Parts: sequence; structure tokens; C-alpha cells
Amino acid sequence: MSPVAKKQPGALILDTPVEELAGVGPVYVRRLKRVEIETVRDLLRYFPRRYDDLRDVKTLDEISRFGELPIGERVTLKAKIISVNSRRSRYGKALVSAQIGSEKGTIEAIWFNQPFVAKDLKTGQEYLFSGKLREAYGRVSLQSPTYEPVKATVDGQTHTARLVPVYPERETISSKWFRQKIRLALPAANQFTEDLPEALRKTNNLPGIADAIKHIHFPETPEQAERARTRFDFTELFVMQILTQRLRASWRNQGAVKIPYNPKITTKFINSLPWKLTDDQRRATHEILKDLDSKAPMLRLLEGDVGSGKTAVAAAAANQVITAGHQVAIIAPTEVLARQHFATLSAWFEPPEIKPLMLLGSQTAKEKKEAKELIASCEGKLIIGTHALIQEDVDWSNLALAIVDEQHRFGVEQRKALRGQTAPHLLSMTATPIPRSLALTAYGDQDLSIIKEMPEGRVPVKTVLLSRGDRDAAFSAIREALGRSEQAFIIYPVIADSRSGLKAAEDEYHNLSKTVLAGYETGLLHGRLSAEEKDAVMTKFTNQEIEVLISTTVVEVGVDVPNATVMVIEEAQRFGLAQLHQLRGRVGRGENMGRCYLLPGQAKDDDNERLETMTKTQSGFTLAEKDLELRGPGELLGTKQSGFDVSLAGLTNPQLLKAAQTAARDIVEHDPDLKTVPELKPRVEGAVLPA
Ligand code: ADP
Ligand code: MG
Repeated sequence: MSPVAKKQPGALILDTPVEELAGVGPVYVRRLKRVEIETVRDLLRYFPRRYDDLRDVKTLDEISRFGELPIGERVTLKAKIISVNSRRSRYGKALVSAQIGSEKGTIEAIWFNQPFVAKDLKTGQEYLFSGKLREAYGRVSLQSPTYEPVKATVDGQTHTARLVPVYPERETISSKWFRQKIRLALPAANQFTEDLPEALRKTNNLPGIADAIKHIHFPETPEQAERARTRFDFTELFVMQILTQRLRASWRNQGAVKIPYNPKITTKFINSLPWKLTDDQRRATHEILKDLDSKAPMLRLLEGDVGSGKTAVAAAAANQVITAGHQVAIIAPTEVLARQHFATLSAWFEPPEIKPLMLLGSQTAKEKKEAKELIASCEGKLIIGTHALIQEDVDWSNLALAIVDEQHRFGVEQRKALRGQTAPHLLSMTATPIPRSLALTAYGDQDLSIIKEMPEGRVPVKTVLLSRGDRDAAFSAIREALGRSEQAFIIYPVIADSRSGLKAAEDEYHNLSKTVLAGYETGLLHGRLSAEEKDAVMTKFTNQEIEVLISTTVVEVGVDVPNATVMVIEEAQRFGLAQLHQLRGRVGRGENMGRCYLLPGQAKDDDNERLETMTKTQSGFTLAEKDLELRGPGELLGTKQSGFDVSLAGLTNPQLLKAAQTAARDIVEHDPDLKTVPELKPRVEGAVLPA
């Protein structure tokens, strides 16, 4: 079979493999596969990031103003090819130049290193050229312009003279390549099955799926593109909201123990704390106590920056529940953190009334048995542990409140494991400062309390952005801190030597231990260690047996070592701002000021600009919003991992969210089996919300 016959356009269907499109060879097939594009359907689902507006087409005559050409401006020129010349530059590079224009006058268009251009351009034919006008040696030229023969209609143009889609470049596939192939695939757009009911589209003024696919790629107007984008955002939000509402309904429909709101008890407790609660802490406490005073189980997310004092809020809630005679479980992500909470809470809750107890995976069988007996008899009222609390066979007959630290959302299965005769009220806590608008979208099954304000007298972590040549300064700062018997962290984005050429934790651990940190106690921590190994390293660091901890981002989660004062973050450009902020929150938690040194590797200018914000603000919320603006919501929310693809505009559009919410509520209530939206069923069934 000849390749031409194989590539008959008539045969194009959504399931057509990409290799059957003209000009898609095995190399591109492999690259596309890596970004999960295998069929025409996948390709059409690959959306542009933005559009270049090249609609303003002019002739050479029309762009000259009083005989002068607008040097430095981007223009789209309609011009005839007068002549084409192909040669090599002095340095041996291919150089194609063409005289373009009309009988009235011409200018030169030049392409470097693109010898194939000479074959493309047909003398005597009209083309459209988009590019910047430059002047060199007194001559004006268009340098490496995009070019395309003039088609019968504007809509026939792909690369010029229209709103030109700009695609995210992945796996070295250029935007232009995507554009060309998506154009070829576009006729298959009509085959998409409509997945939003007409009524819903009408109410929300959304185009049908075929039109939306066409318009998101090749819109005639910006409004058309926006409406198409909104349609897809709406669909994603709708699916997310269906899941969210289902979760919420199934949780809230269970019975919980009602804990009467008793302000006296809480006032007494918070007055016993060593400091006054901040207003935000008070508000959050109040919101939680109100939730507890209900037979429907609470489902609340408490969001507050590192060090904002979430533990005190959790403790006040725990106190209320325990005083009412019920049990509270606190689940920490690691044993180190569980021990930390145990120490803090043991000081706040005075024995003998409330004696906190621990249940950890690393305890002996005897210790675990004892703990479980105390839980079963309800003698133990405040139980602190790790996920062992869920995995171990515990009798939770009197558990009224579960507090989950450093997690956005507690899984359905995990919730079930904590259920006794009633469901516990559930409080999740996170230090990821997700802006409210986003939290409502992604974690909308939960109610939200936010602590924005930090306790008074917090000394900010001094943050310094170093250039690559200043690496030594960072290590000197570490040695100085060690000289004062303080401790330090060094953070890397990857564990081991990677193809990317980034500095890696394991390699640098060996390097540094032999060089700049020779003679100091160093330790290595990363995600490939087992939970026990990790805990062992962290315990050594906490006990100051390790002076410098070399680590990946696993230390992000809630570690509190007040004696650690310096953090050096290598390859800082690789981290999001919110993440950097979480990391730096690990130092300066004691009496001595914390210092954080950011060491970018191969940073670009905008990386440096981004990192510079770290030196200017200590607010996690400000940084999260900046992250959102610069890197999109995927990273902050983990929506990308869960397969939701909502644009930033969609995620932060309250009206759209509201509309999706209303529609989802309606479906969950009246059509829980999704009979009216069968096309959405597989999508809903296969989807997972961000954790
Ligand atoms: P996080 O929100 O990161 O869990 P913590 O609850 O660990 O924060 O609190 C951080 C530190 O701030 C702790 O040492 C705690 O004792 C202290 N703290 C909490 N609330 C206040 C307050 N209102 N005033 C002063 N210090 C406080
Ligand atoms: Mg905490």
C-alpha cells in the first residue's frame, strides 16, 4: 500500500492513529506518545495556550507610513515572491533570502538555517508573511517570518492572517508542528459525541462540542475562542462538582455525635495556652465548634500557612469533644510529626483528665495492644498516630472527631476505617496556601476555614537569592551555623543523577560530605527510603546526631526542628513558589533567625524574577497566587495528576463555578445514575479528585 493511499483524508476518524496523518513519522509518533497523544481524538484534545492575533494583513504599500516602514513591529504582509536566493553564509550556515512585494517595491525576507524554505517558496505566487521588521546595515528585512500561500478564504489560513493558535511545546514538538497536524485532524471534530445536554448548554450559552473543538483551535474571533474554552472548563468543573457533591452527600448523610457548643469550656482551654489566639485562630475555632454541634458529620478543611498555629485550633476542638466524653484521633503524615504533636498536646492537656496516647507502626506488638485496649475501653480519649490508626484493627466505637494533619482531603476508604456506630466529624489541615477560589473548586466537598494572619512576633526567614557563582557563600553560611551548634538543610529537586543534568541529592550527599562539609555529620533523606528509614534519619536529625540534612522535598511536610536555622535550596528554579515557601518554613522555628539561600542552576531571567519574590514576601498566600499566575493551577492543586484540565480562567471564574455547581447539584439530586448525561458517565466514573 502506498503511503498516499494509506493517508486518504476520507478515512479520518477520531480513533485514527496519529501515524496515519500526512507527515507524521515514527520519531514524532514516539514523542507524541510521551505526551499521551496517540489518536486524532487526542490531538484534537490538545488545546492551545493562547493565540497570536495576526489578523491585520497589509501590503507593503499599506504598512509604509509616509514612506517609512515600522521597524521593530510585528506585521503580517501580503506579498508576491519576486525572487528566491539560496546560499551559505560566511560561517557555512544556510541562508535563504527572498525579494517580496509588488511592482511598486520590495523588501527582503531572510531565513537562517532553514534551507528547505527555498524549495517551499514559489516565485510569482502570493504569500502571507508574519514576522518582525528589522533594520540592519541600512536595509529593512523580515527575519525568519512565518509564511503561507494565500488561501481562498481567511479561514483557510493556518499559520498567518488569522488568530493563530499557539500550542504548549512538549517533547521538542513545536507549536507550529502541532498547529499543522491539528489542522489536518480538524475535519474529524464533527465526530465528537456531545457530552453536555442541550438544556445545560442553552442556559449557560455554551457551544456544542464539535464547534467548540473547531473554535478552540482555529477561532474567527477572540470571543469564539473564549466561549469554546469556557465550554470545556464548564464540562471539567461540572464533572468535578458531580464527584464533589456525591462525596459530600454520602458523608453528610451519615449520623455523627452532636457535641454541644459550650463556650465556657473552650474559653477556659484557650486561656490556659501560653499566648492569646489570633483573630483568625478564634474564627476558625468558632467555625469548627459550630460544625461539631450537629448530627451531620463535619467535613472541614483548615488552611493556614506553616506556623500559623493550626495545632492550637485543633486542640481547642479536641478539648470540646473530649470534655463531652468522646474520643479524638489526630493522624499525622509521619511518626516524627506524630511524636511532635504528642509532645505539644501532652503539655497543653493536663493529666490526669486527658492523657494523650500514641499508636505508631513502629511500636512493639505489646505497646500497640495496650494502646488499642485503652482506645477500646474509651479510657484513652486523645489518640495521636500515623496512618497506623487506620491500618491497625482499632475499635473506634466512641470516636467523635478525626483530625488529619497535612492532607487536603481524607480518602473515602480511610474515612470508612474510622467509622464506629457513628461517623466521626472530620477536620483536615493543610499548610498549602490555596487561594479560596481554587480551594472551593478543588476541595468543594469540604467547608473551608482559613488562617491568614500569623501570630505576633514571628521573625521572617531571611531569604537570599544567590547567583550560581555564589554557591560558596551558601556553604559558608551553613558552616557558620554549625559552628553555633545549629543545624541545616540542603534541598535538591531530584534524588539521583538524572538526564536533566540537575544537581541531585544522592550525588551531592557524597560530594559535599567529602568536600565543603567534610568533618560534619551529614544525613540523606529522600522518597525512595522506606518509611522506617525516613523516620530513622529524621529522628537522628531531631536529636542533633545529624548536623546537615541533605534531602529532596520530602522534608516539606510539617517537620519541626527548632535548632535548624539554615536552608540551602539548589536548583531553586525547579520549584514552585508555594513549594519553596513550604520548604523555607522548616527553618527559623526556634529562637534563632532562619536563613534560606536560593541557588538557581540553569535559571532563565523569568526564573530569577520569580525567585526574587521569595525574598520580598513571607506570605504563603501571596506566593501561591503568584504561582498560580505564572505556572497555572495544575501544580498547586494537583489537578493535572488527577486528569482534570481546567484553565486558570475557568478555575477562578466564580460564575462558571457556581453554574457548574448548580448543574451538578441538580444531577446528583435528580439523576444520580447520570441517565440524562450518559456520555459523561465514563468520565465521572473514571475520575479522581485531587487528594
Ligand atoms: P502550623 O499551623 O504550621 O501547624 P503550629 O500549630 O505548629 O503551626 O504553630 C507554630 C508555632 O506557633 C508553635 O510553636 C505554637 O506554639 C505557636 N503559636 C501558635 N499560636 C500562637 C499564637 N496565637 N501566638 C503565639 N504563638 C503561637
Ligand atoms: Mg502543623
